[in-house]
Amino acid sequence: MVGAGPAGSAAALRARQLDPGGRVLLLDRAAFPRDKACGDGIAAHARQELALLGLPGLLDDHRPTPRLSVTSPGGIEVSAAVARPNHVVPRMVFDARLVEAAAARGVEVRRHRVRTLTARDGLVVLDGEVAARVVVAADGANSAVRRLIGVPPSPDRHTAIAVRGYADVPPDDDVQVIVMRSEGWPAYAWSFPVGDGTANVGYGLLLPMLRQTGRPGREILHGRLARLLPLLGEIRSPVRDLRAHHLPLSSGRPVPGAGRVLLAGDAASLINPLTGEGIYYALLSGRLAAEAAIGSPADPLRAYRRALRRALGRHLRTTDALSLAARSPGFIDAAISVAARRTEVFDLLVDVGLGAGTVPPRLAGTVALRWLRDRA
Ligand SMILES: Cc1cc2nc3c(=O)[nH]c(=O)nc-3n(C[C@H](O)[C@H](O)[C@H](O)COP(=O)(O)OP(=O)(O)OC[C@H]3O[C@@H](n4cnc5c(N)ncnc54)[C@H](O)[C@@H]3O)c2cc1C
Repeated sequence: MVGAGPAGSAAALRARQLDPGGRVLLLDRAAFPRDKACGDGIAAHARQELALLGLPGLLDDHRPTPRLSVTSPGGIEVSAAVARPNHVVPRMVFDARLVEAAAARGVEVRRHRVRTLTARDGLVVLDGEVAARVVVAADGANSAVRRLIGVPPSPDRHTAIAVRGYADVPPDDDVQVIVMRSEGWPAYAWSFPVGDGTANVGYGLLLPMLRQTGRPGREILHGRLARLLPLLGEIRSPVRDLRAHHLPLSSGRPVPGAGRVLLAGDAASLINPLTGEGIYYALLSGRLAAEAAIGSPADPLRAYRRALRRALGRHLRTTDALSLAARSPGFIDAAISVAARRTEVFDLLVDVGLGAGTVPPRLAGTVALRWLRDRA
């Protein structure tokens, strides 16, 4: 596995589960614990994946965030308890725990930055020194392995950029707040309380919208976050540790690999285009990549493609369609206004935004009708 974030660690853990005697190598250019620019929001759906990997209690010492408040670009707010609580765990902690668990289960963790890749005698050789039957490329949004196998990077129109930082909040703050903005749409700011008197706060938008401003990225991202802070709840300190990163969205997903190299997580552009959530998809795709590598050694890519289609095909088609519709902020206003009145719609939208959910045609019709009515 190249990359020891959630996708690579999940792949390594699953490979050891399925083939306890096999040799699994987890390479990362960084030493863990390491930080990663992220909102640190870990959806209930991701915890389900952790359970499948044999780590059901990995986040038990962190307080769940039972409520979610979303304000649409037109100012319509829905605030409700989520059907299954999410967690907010700094990536410095979460990723290190995954790597630690992998090492404890016999995965060989090595600090190494992959720079070259060749195919030789049915093996993939990394940097002329590591030979593997299958490589899971989980090296993130700017994946070097993806480039080395000739798969183009995520196009700008399917890439977002976001900045995150940390600030002090009341210790009992337990609401994940998302405030969408029509300025630079699609764009939103968030506050995700960690549960220890701090919150992860951030702001993100699509890359072309940032470029359109003609201003330096840092100025726009930091400036808009600062301006939106008062809308995010009771923020009691300046924001510290600001850090930005790209988000390759699944609406621009590539082929999921080549030959004996399988792309997982951000390297496969598996970030939800509606919410920017990627940890669940990273864990899921890492697991499926390992299952394909172990279960179908003759043609792992074919098996992986099929498994991804089975697990996420309908969901990805749904989010592709919704992200097109969401180019009009009025569509999101209509969806949020329906969700504000119907709990089952709120739950369903959470499933679409954070998990593998889909939208039943009748509900799509209801939202579309409302959208058209509001436009008239
Ligand atoms: C600001 C921001 C906020 C976000 N908020 C959320 C959120 O709240 N919830 C959510 O679910 N998702 C969120 N996301 C998305 C989430 O961060 C990613 O989807 C997730 O990290 C993907 O995991 P991964 O394992 O694919 O990649 P990563 O976590 O990026 O891990 C890739 C690893 O590969 C290593 N690596 C890179 N190149 C090499 C190389 N050449 N050789 C060896 N190792 C290499 C890196 O050191 C890194 O450890 C956010 C993203 C951003 C930018």
